[in-house]
Amino acid sequence: MLLDLHRHLEGSHSPRALLDVALAFGIRSPLFFDASTGQPVAPEALARQLTMQAPSDDAAVFYQCIVKARAAYVSVEAIGALAGKAFREAADDTDGFEMRFSLFSMARTLIENQGRAWRDLVPTEFAERYARPVLQAVLSARDEASRETGKPMLVRLGLSRTFESEAHYRALAAMAREHAGSLVGLDVLGIVIGADTEPLPPGLLDVLATLRRDLPDLTIHAGEFADHASVDRTLALAPRGIGHGVHSLQSPATLERLAREGVTLEVCPTSNRLLIPTALRALEAAHGGATPLKALQRAHVRCVLGSDDPTPMGTSFRREVAVARELGVDMAQLEADMGRRWAELTR
Ligand SMILES: [Zn+2]
Repeated sequence: MLLDLHRHLEGSHSPRALLDVALAFGIRSPLFFDASTGQPVAPEALARQLTMQAPSDDAAVFYQCIVKARAAYVSVEAIGALAGKAFREAADDTDGFEMRFSLFSMARTLIENQGRAWRDLVPTEFAERYARPVLQAVLSARDEASRETGKPMLVRLGLSRTFESEAHYRALAAMAREHAGSLVGLDVLGIVIGADTEPLPPGLLDVLATLRRDLPDLTIHAGEFADHASVDRTLALAPRGIGHGVHSLQSPATLERLAREGVTLEVCPTSNRLLIPTALRALEAAHGGATPLKALQRAHVRCVLGSDDPTPMGTSFRREVAVARELGVDMAQLEADMGRRWAELTR
């Protein structure tokens, strides 16, 4: 079974899908449309703008690829159309998947693309006029794509640790609780530049605690940009999954705890190669050259595989499976862990 268990909607907009939506919705951004010829840009030219060309320890290089694609978030309808295409493309690439998305970032971008400053909106207006329609558009795109393809599709609500405004997050969370039955759980995500690259702001933890009454399955990005101590403090929140978590390999105690508590790490080999090249080399060197996924399996930590952000990373889930096989990952163990995690998510 090909089950992609770590994939982001914002990183799943293919050049083809973006160009189709730009055409359908008359989006004349120079990213999609060449004013000098009056024609849409070629998909290959757009792909060069949206895909990392080489590994970089500077996360801003990756983030810029994501930011560019957001130029297409011009209306709720355009976001719904993009989501529909992303779900169908993920269905072609897998037997089923979980897709996470940062609702705050999508709503904020939509407001900005419509020429307004999101901070000028009172939190309830932010939540009701923008975030709820975006959430509903994503969920109905999922339902339609799942019906048409016959593939199971789970959607996870992501909350960014950038945590720009506690009041706006609280309003968004209160609204999202009403849609809990259509969601599989919560994720904490986001690129943060600074001394702490994986912060957990107290206000965000409070919002998570409220949402978890309805959405208990929590995953958190940790141990990706920051070291094993980030995984340790994340484990205190009793997540069911950790995004990446590869820096756990720095600490036998962290590995032991992950294995004991049955927390699943969502490992994304190409993402690690592109976003944390220096750290990856150090982790591999400390584990006899083994790729993190293989070293984690040896430590009896449950691991599943993810494509993370297929467009900026120029990958697909099928390609990640091939990469894992080439890197000597125990594919039978991976399949068993994947099935166990899928059962947790779908029971
Ligand atoms: Zn991720």
